[in-house]
Amino acid sequence: MFPMKRRGLLVVVSSPSGGGKGTILKELFRRNENLKMSVSATTRAPRPGEEHGVHYYFITKDEFKTNIENHAMLEYAEYCDNFYGTPKAPVEKWLEEGHDVVLEIEVQGGRQIKKVAPDCVSLFILPPSLKVLEKRLRGRGTETEEVIEKRLAAAADEIRCVKDYDYAVINDTVEQAVLDIEAILAAEKLRVSRE
Ligand code: 5GP
Repeated sequence: MFPMKRRGLLVVVSSPSGGGKGTILKELFRRNENLKMSVSATTRAPRPGEEHGVHYYFITKDEFKTNIENHAMLEYAEYCDNFYGTPKAPVEKWLEEGHDVVLEIEVQGGRQIKKVAPDCVSLFILPPSLKVLEKRLRGRGTETEEVIEKRLAAAADEIRCVKDYDYAVINDTVEQAVLDIEAILAAEKLRVSRE
């Protein structure tokens, strides 16, 4: 007998800052209604246009620490002097309901998720080159030079972590990257070993 409802797929997506994952994920979500995006908590300040509860839960370091102590985080990491983490409860609920859930997180968090949920699918989105990455990061115009330098250094380190991921998706064009991710998710859902 086949199960009536299967648990959703937990999908980890990482990419260096400026790697273009935001645009790719936006298009992926537009095309796939069953997908849910986890909203992370962070201690960094909101960028212009970012809303509490939509882009992030913007919280203080003390609030973040309390969440950790209460075991309310699925994973968390310190990245460029701020904390980022995935609230556990909504992710568990969506997976249970059969939704596929995307965690858009950096590599330390990605590693933690592989440990607590080894059957997750992990994708690393690569920019076509480091030069293109730098151009995108500067083009955004939302960060100071100091922050850009920090993020570029972090990006070079992060790209080395691609080997820890299940799949590498090259962000040459948004259309192709989205098609590649859809193909990966479709195949992963048919994996016999997951049932
Ligand atoms: P940004 O400040 O540009 O929004 O995010 C900086 C980095 O933090 C990005 O690589 C992003 O993927 C990562 N990030 C966002 N939310 C989380 C989270 O909940 N956990 C972890 N580990 N990283 C996160």
